[in-house]
Amino acid sequence: MHSILENRPSLKAQIDAVAEVAGYLWLKGWAERNGGNITVNITEYVDDAMRALPPISEARPIGKTLPHLDGCWFYCKGTGKRMRDLARDPMANGSIIRISKDCAHYEIVADAPVAPTSELPSHLAVHDYLLAKGSPYRASLHTHPIELVALTHSRKWMEKDVATRMLWSMIPETKAFCPRGLGMVPYMLPSSVELADATIRAIDEDYDVVMWEKHGVFAVDTDIMSAFDQVDVLNKSALIYIAARDMGFEPEGMSDEQMKEMTAAFGLPK
Ligand SMILES: [Zn+2]
Repeated sequence: MHSILENRPSLKAQIDAVAEVAGYLWLKGWAERNGGNITVNITEYVDDAMRALPPISEARPIGKTLPHLDGCWFYCKGTGKRMRDLARDPMANGSIIRISKDCAHYEIVADAPVAPTSELPSHLAVHDYLLAKGSPYRASLHTHPIELVALTHSRKWMEKDVATRMLWSMIPETKAFCPRGLGMVPYMLPSSVELADATIRAIDEDYDVVMWEKHGVFAVDTDIMSAFDQVDVLNKSALIYIAARDMGFEPEGMSDEQMKEMTAAFGLPK
């Protein structure tokens, strides 16, 4: 079977990056069973020949009307699919969809009629929000990073920016490469409209990575590798914190002055 990725190297590079990240999520133990989701806005890689392709599914309702997604295309992980399988074969464990003119339906276009993740409405709502804001962000990632999820089982770390401050203070790179910190969303039912709305509010408060209490993170960035990197540096800091505690002491952390110095030196947003 021909793949839509054939002779489209720039589109293929995007899907290859999704597969690479999916492999990392599995290796890190962040993607048990079918856990986690990836959605990437691939509209800028779509050519006229792609636009002319017939759909391979009927038009299905998104469940929301998302006016900024007019003419948009996405790669989405398939519902019930495993990250470890997606890493080997992204087009058999995810699909490319286009949004219908009414901005309330989608059709699967390639390669196989793999139904997108059940989290599609919330991921698409985030993409709609990002486009409305004029954001350059095109990728969204949901995953279950063990140590970051563990933090959320304590009230203390769920307080606004308490975890951010600790994580930033473990190693300078975390502040440099996750410069907006970790937004906190209290526990809500997975897949619920409430959780999607709270996630968008947290992104709007100026976070790229949002923590869902006792569940996982939702991260956005320009591309999927960058979204992964933001989560990876945060979790690295959590591991350093745990290593210090395992050595029998509370880690000192960088001082406020040292962190302010970094903000100025690197032109960071916070
Ligand atoms: Zn999850």
